[in-house]
Amino acid sequence: MAKERVYLFDTTLRDGAQTNGVDFTLADKLAIAGMLDELGIDYVEGGYPGANPTDTDLFSESRKLRGKFTAFGMTRRPGRSASNDPGLAALLEAKADAICFVAKAWDYHVRVALETTEEENLASIRDSVKAAKEKGREVLLDCEHFFDGYKANPKYALSCAKAAYEAGARWVVLCDTNGGTLPHEVEEIVGTVCKTIPGDHVGIHAHNDTEQAVANSFAAVRAGARQIQGTLNGLGERCGNANLVSIIPTLKLKPEYADAFDIGVNDAALKRLAHISHALDERLNRGSNRHAPYVGESAFATKAGIHASAIAKDPATYEHVTPETVGNKRKVLVSEQAGKSNILAELERIGLKVDKDDPRIGRLLEIVKEREAIGYAYEAADASFEMLARRTLGTVPDYFDVTQFDVNVEQRNNAKGERVTVTLAVVKVKVGDDNMISAAEGNGPVNALDRALRKDLGQYQKYIEGLKLTDYRVRILNSGTEAVTRVLIESEDENGDRWTTIGVSANIIDASFQALMDSIIYKLVKSGAAA
Ligand SMILES: [Zn+2]
Repeated sequence: MAKERVYLFDTTLRDGAQTNGVDFTLADKLAIAGMLDELGIDYVEGGYPGANPTDTDLFSESRKLRGKFTAFGMTRRPGRSASNDPGLAALLEAKADAICFVAKAWDYHVRVALETTEEENLASIRDSVKAAKEKGREVLLDCEHFFDGYKANPKYALSCAKAAYEAGARWVVLCDTNGGTLPHEVEEIVGTVCKTIPGDHVGIHAHNDTEQAVANSFAAVRAGARQIQGTLNGLGERCGNANLVSIIPTLKLKPEYADAFDIGVNDAALKRLAHISHALDERLNRGSNRHAPYVGESAFATKAGIHASAIAKDPATYEHVTPETVGNKRKVLVSEQAGKSNILAELERIGLKVDKDDPRIGRLLEIVKEREAIGYAYEAADASFEMLARRTLGTVPDYFDVTQFDVNVEQRNNAKGERVTVTLAVVKVKVGDDNMISAAEGNGPVNALDRALRKDLGQYQKYIEGLKLTDYRVRILNSGTEAVTRVLIESEDENGDRWTTIGVSANIIDASFQALMDSIIYKLVKSGAAA
């Protein structure tokens, strides 16, 4: 049997831009549109032309995408003709392949918010859809508050959807604007709508206020809808929109959906999913959710020893899908409770060949336990674990030696009489027979130390040019009488590879220094730098 097509509509750049703390520039929007296109998204909603300068600029030239670049805006205002509405005119002028209108579908909102009659709202929907069709655009209509509207007045909500469909809208999108509708309600209501409007013209736009936006999207598909709207990483106002990063692999990998439907995302693009999800967080300058389904760092991580030994025999025993299909990787956590099997599995993953009866395995396990007892957490710091393992197994070259460092923090008045805090770090490094001194200022002691350390590593400098720190986390641990500081540093290189290193000390600078050193040496080892 031929598969049916389910279309994906991304609104990261429009609804996702409503996220608290998110403020996209034009460059951000173009970069994210590129990621969405790489993934194979059918519709990329760019924004609301006319509503702000960024979106107006975005739609001032045509953006060549494989998917349909879509502009969002309101239907004509009540009491005006379509040809005499400046908002609508701006939307029709936008360089877009498709236009997604939003209109009210709840009679209560029509009366109270729009202050117009039910019939005038329907006329506005019809006129706007027709005007955009005449301009040669593909048209979508978002029915705002559709589910709440349907519960209050099913006849009127449905007549809004019908008005758009009959006027020629390609898609009528049922929006759960407040995000409070539950999956069984969505399935029932969408099923009823699909008796009037063919399902291959019906879309779902779910918000995550009961953490069921993904479930609601699937409920709608089960009931007949064939377009899903959502955002990357579930960005969006309040609790966010339906997360396409979770929806896509479910559609691709779960037989109930994979056997029945095709989507625009191919297997190769699916393998880029984790990367794209992390690249978006990177652009937003925020850490990724390590527990995110499919793409999170912990999504395929196992801790207990018994699970680890089973996974080493057959990964399918503890995994619902193969991590590689979504560009993620299996990870066996090395922790206090882990046995030898965890260490062996982790060594195999990082490509260190050791005989399972090698006495050095037992020694490595002892060292891990000792260090975890004083505050190290290797399950959170894969690269530091790898460095520790390589050192214990005797395979890390002596690239360079930091013979001395000095960090100075000074608060004083500057020339303008303002109170400023200035930090300067000086590092002495010995590379081969060369002694080098580097100094750097920073916005804090760790930043200054990092800059000075990476300023000049002589023959190794070329390997660390693309290295950057992407996250820095500090925790104070109370171990009995003494407080120690644990520093975790996340680094990334020019290939987009990421790793985490750790340092622990009573002194925050010392702890940071350990983590920085591990990160640099890890990068040198990874790059195959010769000692
Ligand atoms: Zn929305």
